[in-house]
Amino acid sequence: MTFTAGVVAVQGDVSEHAAAIEHAAERRGRTAEVVEIRDAGIVPDCDALLMPGGESTTISRLLHDEGIAAEIVDHVDDGKPVLATCAGLIVASRDAGDERVETLDLIDVTVERNAFGRQKDSFEAPLDVDGLDDPFPGVFIRAPVISEVGGDSGRDSETGGESAGVAVLAEWDGRPVAVRDGPVIGTSFHPELTDDDRIHELAFFAETPATQ
Ligand code: GLN
Repeated sequence: MTFTAGVVAVQGDVSEHAAAIEHAAERRGRTAEVVEIRDAGIVPDCDALLMPGGESTTISRLLHDEGIAAEIVDHVDDGKPVLATCAGLIVASRDAGDERVETLDLIDVTVERNAFGRQKDSFEAPLDVDGLDDPFPGVFIRAPVISEVGGDSGRDSETGGESAGVAVLAEWDGRPVAVRDGPVIGTSFHPELTDDDRIHELAFFAETPATQ
């Protein structure tokens, strides 16, 4: 059965995510049809969604202007999966600490934009990710820091605490860099900028047995 994955394509890196979804699906014996989302009306037909990196201020404004934001919230309310990376994570968070970003509150975390440094401070780090056997090469580009996990619990990342709803899947330098809140996975890094599609597999196909 074909699996329809929508990649939010109002701004940001789209084709690399499309390729990663297609490969991850193939490894699980599935066929993915990737559709680009620039207008309202497409999200309701998607089995999974991807919110890529880019500029979170621009992405959030366009999602709201185009009426796509509410459709994404409905998608998650229906229990369908989302992978949100870097700027996507910022938009998917509860609070980005920046009034120019109207967040969708899909993941109960507070983020701090650009807190891992500016463009010149981009770096790659091997990450131990819950659910993956071997380290994942995390590419960080002007990446957000997840500064607080779970608003209601009042616990923050420095305590290593998790709210009932949010699981920390990976940390770097003592800070969460991959989290899951129900059907939504958010990463500070860019899994699409490597040849490794295991994060996409984890987000979308974890319940489908892998074929060798
Ligand atoms: N710094 C960007 C923002 O705040 C995110 C960077 C990225 O997606 N690589 O939106």
